[in-house]
Amino acid sequence: MSPMADIHSETPAAQAHPADSAAAASFAGLLARLDYLGPTEIDSIRQAYRFADEAHLGQKRKNGDPYITHPIAVAAQCAEWKLDAQALMAALMHDAIEDCGVTKEELVERFGAPVAELVDGLTKLEKLEFDSREQNQAESFRKMLLAMAKDVRVILIKLADRTHNMRTMGDMPRSKWKRISSETLEIYAPIAHRLGLNFTYRELQDLSFRFLHPWRYEVLSRALSKSRNRRKDLIARVQDEVERVFIGHGMAVRILGREKTLYSVYRKMDAKHLSFSEVTDIYGFRIIAPELIDCYTGLGILHQLYKPVPGKFRDYVAIPKVNGYQSIHTTLIGPFGTNIEFQLRTHAMDVVAESGVAAHWLYKASEPGSDTSQRLGTQWLQSLLDIQQETHDATEFWDHIKIDLFPDAVYVFTPKSKILSLPRGATVVDFAYAIHSNVGDRAVSARVNGEESALRTELNNGDVVEVVTGDAAEPNPAWLAFAKTGRARSKIRHHLKTLAQDESRQLGERMLLQTVRHEGIAQLPDEHGEHKAAWEKLLRFTGSRNREELVTDIGTGKRIASMIGKKLAVLLADSGLKPDPLLISHERYTSGHNDTASQGVVTLDGSEGVSVQYAPCCKPIPGDRIVGYLGRGEGLMVHAEDCPTGKRLLHRDRERFLEVEWADEPVRAFETTLVVSLHNGKGVLARVASAMAATEADITHVDMGDEPAQNATDIRFTVAVRDRQHLAAVLRRLKRTPSVLKAQRAKSTRT
Ligand code: MN
Repeated sequence: MSPMADIHSETPAAQAHPADSAAAASFAGLLARLDYLGPTEIDSIRQAYRFADEAHLGQKRKNGDPYITHPIAVAAQCAEWKLDAQALMAALMHDAIEDCGVTKEELVERFGAPVAELVDGLTKLEKLEFDSREQNQAESFRKMLLAMAKDVRVILIKLADRTHNMRTMGDMPRSKWKRISSETLEIYAPIAHRLGLNFTYRELQDLSFRFLHPWRYEVLSRALSKSRNRRKDLIARVQDEVERVFIGHGMAVRILGREKTLYSVYRKMDAKHLSFSEVTDIYGFRIIAPELIDCYTGLGILHQLYKPVPGKFRDYVAIPKVNGYQSIHTTLIGPFGTNIEFQLRTHAMDVVAESGVAAHWLYKASEPGSDTSQRLGTQWLQSLLDIQQETHDATEFWDHIKIDLFPDAVYVFTPKSKILSLPRGATVVDFAYAIHSNVGDRAVSARVNGEESALRTELNNGDVVEVVTGDAAEPNPAWLAFAKTGRARSKIRHHLKTLAQDESRQLGERMLLQTVRHEGIAQLPDEHGEHKAAWEKLLRFTGSRNREELVTDIGTGKRIASMIGKKLAVLLADSGLKPDPLLISHERYTSGHNDTASQGVVTLDGSEGVSVQYAPCCKPIPGDRIVGYLGRGEGLMVHAEDCPTGKRLLHRDRERFLEVEWADEPVRAFETTLVVSLHNGKGVLARVASAMAATEADITHVDMGDEPAQNATDIRFTVAVRDRQHLAAVLRRLKRTPSVLKAQRAKSTRT
């Protein structure tokens, strides 16, 4: 893409006259340009105009014109692109929801869902404001804008809106110039470029430059017009010579003089530290040839006329740019040794080069009924047309384009307007970890767009997300089910691992202390103190790196506490710490209930976390007699004392058992399974569920089984209860419930 505009202005009237001229702003002026639409379509547009006019009644633009002149000007730009009637209606009403209290429902009712969707899409974009201080965020912001628009027409109307606002920026207070101009330059101009709307791209750049740097703009503008006068003769001579040589070859081409835009001259001076007079490629020519092959013939003709500059030849016809741009570029040494750039392309390529995506409508309008894809030389647009023909749906059409434009991502805001890009399907948890692992680790819930939301909430483009954290909060293994990003998943896993290790270390420490107390030693001595040598011998014996590792191994069941404890007691006795016989008898004969591995009693209150698990076979609840089995490296598994699985383990692996008991006041409910036999019938399940709700038991799982339906069915409910008493109350209530034949706690299942 060459940032040049035509000298021979082919600019349509709407672009030449700003909308503050009453004539251009009038709706009649718009109507005159709608000759490509049918009478019913024009009628709908008229209705949309009346609706918008009424909605904006009394509102004024900054220059005093009625507000409606702005939507009309936006619609006029859309008409230049030959957008369809729905788009023009949406353009006319694009500010109606935001500014006039019109609702989307009202628009659906009066103008149909497609138009209402367009207006709604524009309203959503309107609410986004780019903070230009976040320079590196521009790319994300652009992508978010594009991703939010479900329909390419929304983007086109938005560009038309922005173009008109930039053209009338002079009416705005100066204090707003910088913010709006840099937003245009960093966000909207690149979007126009990306979609191939190069005419709009250049215009937005030049207007932004003008309002960002008024003085520089003024100086350059004067320099350019002086140079234009100086070069007049040269330009005329080249134009004349080129015209002659093409006529000589019998080729009907259009030759257009071109001039670099002020902004691109400025950028070149800035980037290469040049003075204005050192920028030599301000003027150039564009040659529009009838057929593709003529571009190459024309190239040969030009290269015979003037000598080409080596290394300046580019063939974007054979290899188009990503935005569909096609052209042959070559730089020639003209009369007086001046370098002049030439571009050669066909008319179809020219339409795409100037209007990009909009060319799709331009072509549909100019060649109704004809096989447009045949006439369009560009593959890019042709593929767009194929999609359009296959789908007949602007939304799907845009989805296809979007795939090329950006990866599958959602863009969301922090409360401070920083933009984060996350994979599609990402949830609040991913967001929290993307901010900082401390935020993720302590996340409790979130406010998404001001509304209380769960951590599992999926995020959408443009959401403003604020994570609520709690000091005591910790990651939960369940988060792994909905965390999408690798970062969040690995952080959660890491935290759970350290958490488990921490708990295991504490448990191991406690167990080791219990066993040495059984040997008559009241306290574990410091490993760096007086009995350092005993500790060192013990660690050599076990091969552990340090005390921490050793007790963690005890806590996870990798080592047997009683063995280590006895060994340690012996070593301590050797180093002078004699056992206390009184303590021995107290520990051994008054506190122990039975003679399973005497490792002391571990009290459970449900707050243990991942290092203690409650066996899924018997699902013990407070009040049940329980035993603890220390698996090899898996932490402590709690079984009911009468659980067959537990008994089997006890028989085989006695020394891995330790005594456990319930705390007086467990901190949470525990799950257990009930089997309820029901008469089949309507509403039975609901009655059972409400009976349980009445007793404050939460159903966490229902298993209907897959037996053939008979008169009665057994259903397994997993419920969370406080303790055995609570369970008894639940069962009593169930037995009183009509249609319930039997209700009892499930027997342990073999695992
Ligand atoms: Mn607007």
